[in-house]
Amino acid sequence: MSDAEQPIDGGAPDEGDDEFEPIQVFPEAEEMDLRPGADDCYKCSTCDTNCPVAAVDDEFPGPKFQGPEQWRLKRQDDHDIDDSVMKCSNCMRCDSACPSSVPLSQMHNTARGEYVEQTMSKLSREYLRNRMLANYRRFAPLGATFPRTANFVLGLSITKWLGEKTLGITSERELPAFATETFREWWEKRGGNAASKRRAQDAREKRGGNAASKRRAQDAREKRGDNAASKRRGESNQPSEDKRIAYFHGCYSNYNTPEVGKALVRVYERFGYEVLVPDQHCSGTPMFANGMLEDARRAAETNVAELADAIENGADIIASCSSCSMSIRQEYPELFDFEGTEDVSANTWDAVEYLRVHEDLEAELEGTSVGAEFDDFVYHAPCHSRNQGLNGQTIEVMDAIDGIDVHDVGDSCSGISGTYGWKAENYETSMKIGEEMFEHMADADARTGLTECPTCSMQMEHGTGYEITHTLEVLEAALVGDSSETDG
Ligand code: SF4
Ligand code: SF4
Repeated sequence: MSDAEQPIDGGAPDEGDDEFEPIQVFPEAEEMDLRPGADDCYKCSTCDTNCPVAAVDDEFPGPKFQGPEQWRLKRQDDHDIDDSVMKCSNCMRCDSACPSSVPLSQMHNTARGEYVEQTMSKLSREYLRNRMLANYRRFAPLGATFPRTANFVLGLSITKWLGEKTLGITSERELPAFATETFREWWEKRGGNAASKRRAQDAREKRGGNAASKRRAQDAREKRGDNAASKRRGESNQPSEDKRIAYFHGCYSNYNTPEVGKALVRVYERFGYEVLVPDQHCSGTPMFANGMLEDARRAAETNVAELADAIENGADIIASCSSCSMSIRQEYPELFDFEGTEDVSANTWDAVEYLRVHEDLEAELEGTSVGAEFDDFVYHAPCHSRNQGLNGQTIEVMDAIDGIDVHDVGDSCSGISGTYGWKAENYETSMKIGEEMFEHMADADARTGLTECPTCSMQMEHGTGYEITHTLEVLEAALVGDSSETDG
């Protein structure tokens, strides 16, 4: 028996145990057989040494066990999934770390879904709490309808205490505030797609029309010939002929930080892009992390249909949240096969990445400034940006703006990982993971924190007291200036 065939539990097999054969862990999921991927694992343990949860939690067995070992090495009569799969934060750092392209997070997501479906009581406090956290989009509209009341009630100590006692949501964190106007309300009030079309047309004329725009885009692509993202996207590295994008704003930008969505719209229109805002559900990120695969499937089905229509209509898909773009690009095609899934995945971009590849963003930023109150940043690249190969881009883009200092906190994980750090039982671990980032941020002694992930931004603020902003807001300040002039 080879090393790879050793069982993981129950110690070494009995001498002469000729019966043993690796089997599929989830026999009913024939169409999702991940054993070929597991066969690529050669047990180097690089994934384990890159796992932030395993680094601080001795009881967490790590991604190698959660992934290839559970998939390949179960005994015939043992289909149980180890409950430690619920301790994985779905940061996906193990995916990037693996030198052998083992589909670790796909294995974890599938195993977690099976675990929740088969093992977790649907009446347990853990299931109800996780389902609520995973379905923020279902509850957020209520808070957004009465934002001042909701913010007042959610900010009360008694509410947080009750949340921890009854649901197991940590009382240590401040619940995010609802905006008094959602992004979609602002978008409709502003005139929706028709107004965007007009503004984009005006901007294109100001910039020398379509021919000049195409030339600039071509120059940018040639200049960025060595750009990793550009290479990775291959054939889809052609901008929409119509300079049209469809914005996937996700839940947080809609209900909590509409200023991020507004910044995206204004920056893209400034480059002459017409913006569409399709109907959309949650990207599914919190559902994958909590093993709610049926919820994720329903949300993804709507998103794929809506986004595929937008692509058909000449648009590329742009997300401002690194976890949303990650989910659509990687998790959708790994887990679902709705018509159009691959196409939607191949045409989805991170907001800054798209501008770098299709416009000469750095050249446009040269000579711009953002004012003394907004000039000294400490930047954290979210794990889901790293997984898309985008960890260096924000620093490079910020460096092009006059008078800005940006300190990079390095490659540590923030520790919150979406809903993970909101669970009372994970709070301490989440803060331990974040310690390295907190220390770097404190040492940087900057004015403002910078990131592209909403929950990383919560953790950065919670652990350091910094005020946090999104990269698109800095680009808006540099490229658009006073937005009341453009939106008034
Ligand atoms: S990094 Fe990849 S090859 Fe190495 S142990 Fe983990 S899954 Fe296996
Ligand atoms: S997704 Fe993150 S927490 Fe989960 S096993 Fe991989 S590295 Fe560890």
